[in-house]
Amino acid sequence: MYYPELMSIKGNVQIHPEILNKFDNWIGKRDFTQRRGLKASQLIEQINIDRELAQFLLVEATYLGILKKQYVLFCPFCNEFKRYDSFNEIPSEIECSQSQKEYSPSSYIRNIFLVFDIVKYPGKELIKT
Ligand SMILES: [Zn+2]
Repeated sequence: MYYPELMSIKGNVQIHPEILNKFDNWIGKRDFTQRRGLKASQLIEQINIDRELAQFLLVEATYLGILKKQYVLFCPFCNEFKRYDSFNEIPSEIECSQSQKEYSPSSYIRNIFLVFDIVKYPGKELIKT
């Protein structure tokens, strides 16, 4: 495993080791260009689990220091986006530096995405090619 500590994750119900293995691969088998902006929807599709379990695994990996939560806000008028460490850091009013438009993020909740960045990289000796 890239992250043996993932085996310590325990849910209300037993999580199958195979799921943890797949989750481990999903995080570990990435080059440096693919280590930011991981989405729950991608995990759901990739390892075929339900949303609740996907979110649980992502949050647990955050507690383990492997992932870091990030909120990405897309400007509703252009392609500009900003990243925030927490939901509370998103300002109530924003002036976009690209489109010069002013807007309230709370009116564009659908433009806010929860993503995860990998902050702990797997040990070199464990990287399979
Ligand atoms: Zn904009």
